Amino acid sequence: MGVGTFRYLFGALLLALCMLPGMQAQAAGGANLGERCGITLDTLPTAQELSRISNWQCPARFDVQPDKAQIIRFDLSDRADRAQLRHAISRKADFERLIFVAEDMDGGQRTISKSFADGRQAYLERQFSLPLPEITEETRYLFAIMLGGREIMPLDYLRLEAQLPGSTPSERNALLLYALVIGILVMPILIDLGVFYVLRDRFSLLHAGMVGSTLIHLVTVSGLNLPFFTLSLPMARLLGVASFGAIVIGASLFTESFLEREHLSKRGRRVFYGHAFLVAIATALHAPQFHALGRFPADFFYITCLAGSPYFVWAIAKAWRDGSRSARFLAVGFAPLVVVGVIRTGSHLIPGMPTYDAGTLFLLGGALEVMATTLGVADRFLSLRRERDRMLDEAQALASLARRDPLTGALNRRAITEDFDGLVAEGYTACMLVDLDKFKSVNDEYGHATGDRVLQLAASALGEDPASKLVRMGGEEFLLLLHGDDACQRADARRRAITARVLAELDGLERPITASAGFLDFKPVAGEADLDFAMLYTRVDQLLYSAKCEGRNQTVCDTLQLFDAKREADGAVAA
Ligand code: GH3
Ligand code: MG
Ligand code: MG
Repeated sequence: MGVGTFRYLFGALLLALCMLPGMQAQAAGGANLGERCGITLDTLPTAQELSRISNWQCPARFDVQPDKAQIIRFDLSDRADRAQLRHAISRKADFERLIFVAEDMDGGQRTISKSFADGRQAYLERQFSLPLPEITEETRYLFAIMLGGREIMPLDYLRLEAQLPGSTPSERNALLLYALVIGILVMPILIDLGVFYVLRDRFSLLHAGMVGSTLIHLVTVSGLNLPFFTLSLPMARLLGVASFGAIVIGASLFTESFLEREHLSKRGRRVFYGHAFLVAIATALHAPQFHALGRFPADFFYITCLAGSPYFVWAIAKAWRDGSRSARFLAVGFAPLVVVGVIRTGSHLIPGMPTYDAGTLFLLGGALEVMATTLGVADRFLSLRRERDRMLDEAQALASLARRDPLTGALNRRAITEDFDGLVAEGYTACMLVDLDKFKSVNDEYGHATGDRVLQLAASALGEDPASKLVRMGGEEFLLLLHGDDACQRADARRRAITARVLAELDGLERPITASAGFLDFKPVAGEADLDFAMLYTRVDQLLYSAKCEGRNQTVCDTLQLFDAKREADGAVAA
């Protein structure tokens, strides 16, 4: 994918994201909340006091005041379905008690008092349900009194419903969307684990952690665990907060390890680590609900989670501009979540604005983020594998270079020393050591270049036996390892072929180039443990020396007997 493609993709994505909140706001506007007004009192009012309160305020949203009694009054006189209302539905956040009082026209009251732990997990948007006191056609008001609330959410989102969430067609569609995204998230985790198995690079594990946290978060937010098991509300809330913290930590650490070394400075890496560390502390403070700390853990959590986004945007944009390939995947992946973050904080921080959760946007953004970064992981995997294959090829080429003589292409002394035992096991049972006769004078008379050419021709003449291995032992000395029958005759034929080959290929030499050789058949001792290359080389060198002494241009053949080998070994010990 070129940079241009990424730019178009990115632009289209931002455009789509800007349109989504509008669509959602429209959908939310249709919800039937009933006319609700509120008031904050220092102490819990008695039943009579409750009836007599007259200074109700009816703002779009309420502010939390810990340690006070916060009351919301629903006027049910206009709700035609009031006699069917059974459930109080709201969003999970801790409180000490939620007291519902249903008041009839004649002043009669019915009360139910519940704690946070009494609530039941409900489908969609971090919701929970509590039972309402009986509401009849005669009921005029429903009061909800929150005591010990640390976040306003339970009151601010409170709705009275006849059915539990998940029963209307649009709620079912929303649940299906959640289920679809949760299903999709399983695949990247498997891909990550596969990539880690092959590459052992931690970015894929961090990505799996981030996706796994997203999966857990979406399950607890949507309540899709409910067909299988129910979580207690404190547990569901803890999991929701902890998994959200883990997503942010995972995103920080993954981005740090995924951006290429050259596109993120050491300082930049530390910022990501620092952010992950702060979010970990904030999560540890916010998840278990330390009541003594009041609102502080919740605020600290939101602020630290969001504080990283400007740096995210800056670091990724900078890396993209500097040509980072990973940055493009990260940008496309994280853009929707940054938009969600801005919408969420904006709605939390701007006074008077209703808290806007951007749930669907978060869901789609999360799915898109996971898909884009998974593509990034796969892309990194492929490029790392290509790089690894290239390096392996290079290493192989280097290793084979280190085993070959560059002038003649024959194996070198190091290679034969390493391979000797293996070659004997393969059936090589004879060797010939060849040395060119009076070679120094070729160099002296015709120059070093001609000498080199003679060496190359000699090597090609010797190497023509397919049942043999040619080694250049050094200078103008070659070793031919052979297997098969008539090895001595075949070896001698190759030695003589040197003279013919040089004659045919090289003009201007005044005398023929000959070679002397020692030949040793070691078949009788091939299986013996004592047989080693150094001993064999010494023996065959002695035979070559004999050939030189006997007038050159000939091969002296011999067979190595077990007795000779033993004597060699004993001689070596005696010496
Ligand atoms: P002999 O018949 O006793 O073996 O005599 P020789 O001259 O062949 O033996 P000597 O060991 O005196 O000389 C070997 C020469 O081989 C000396 C050296 O200059 C030459 N030589 C060694 N390696 C190379 C090489 O890579 N290229 C060339 N051109 N010459 C080499
Ligand atoms: Mg020589
Ligand atoms: Mg020599």
